[in-house]
Amino acid sequence: MEKLEQLYEGKAKKVFKTDDPEVLLVDYKDDATAFNGLKKGTIRGKGAINNRVTNFMMQMLEKEGVPTHFIKELSDRETLVKKVTIVPLEVIIRNVSAGSFSKRYGVEEGIVFKKPTIEFSYKNDDLGDPLLNDDHALALGIATEEEIATIKAMAFKVNDVMKAFFKSVGVDLIDFKLEFGKTSDGTIVLADEISPDTCRFWDSKTHEKLDKDRFRRDLGNVEDAYAEMMKRIFGE
Ligand code: ADP
Ligand code: UDP
Repeated sequence: MEKLEQLYEGKAKKVFKTDDPEVLLVDYKDDATAFNGLKKGTIRGKGAINNRVTNFMMQMLEKEGVPTHFIKELSDRETLVKKVTIVPLEVIIRNVSAGSFSKRYGVEEGIVFKKPTIEFSYKNDDLGDPLLNDDHALALGIATEEEIATIKAMAFKVNDVMKAFFKSVGVDLIDFKLEFGKTSDGTIVLADEISPDTCRFWDSKTHEKLDKDRFRRDLGNVEDAYAEMMKRIFGE
């Protein structure tokens, strides 16, 4: 498959066309941003790590019956995916309080929820990704009632699979963000990425943060945390 012109350069990835109109090539960068692009930096080796972690998770989820955009890993940083129309929602699942949840509701981080929560943000950088509920998504024509139900069910299934896997490697899955897309035949599939950029991972024993919060909060040892997650997942 041929890598053709660049369609889009985002904050963490570049997206290229290929000679198949249904297939895109994603190229993961080392660039890191936080706070809607206000904080910028580089995390050395991140692109390759996020590419491999994402593809590993997508393949595990496919096996567990969750349809994804994943087609094939081409290299350290490059992967072929099904072209989808992204549903402009950031779908956030939380198992434990942290980040904006703790800030918004004035609670400490680390409260383990009785059951996972789901929330949506409208994926719109200019507006700062505002929180919205199902009815708002319907009113804005972002998704149909049926699509919202499908997305919710898939997101909770992803959580079940990921939570169990990470537990087995000594990591608590605190929260994460998913994106979904529609293929040309209208099927909803899991898209974008699943990585230490988009998940909160805490060591189960020490509660040490092994994710992008080390960059967001200037905690140091950012590269080490990403490398540690590689070690946990791939044993390397
Ligand atoms: P951002 O746009 O937030 O800066 P990225 O740097 O990760 O994010 O850019 C990747 C872009 O590609 C995102 O806008 C994401 O929604 C989009 N995307 C992810 N998977 C697919 C796919 N399978 N088809 C089309 N677009 C996708
Ligand atoms: N997240 C993300 N992209 C975003 C916003 C959030 O990947 O644009 C992830 C984030 O890494 C965390 C989860 O979603 O794992 C919940 O994030 P939160 O709402 O607490 O926001 P934050 O504290 O990152 O502002």
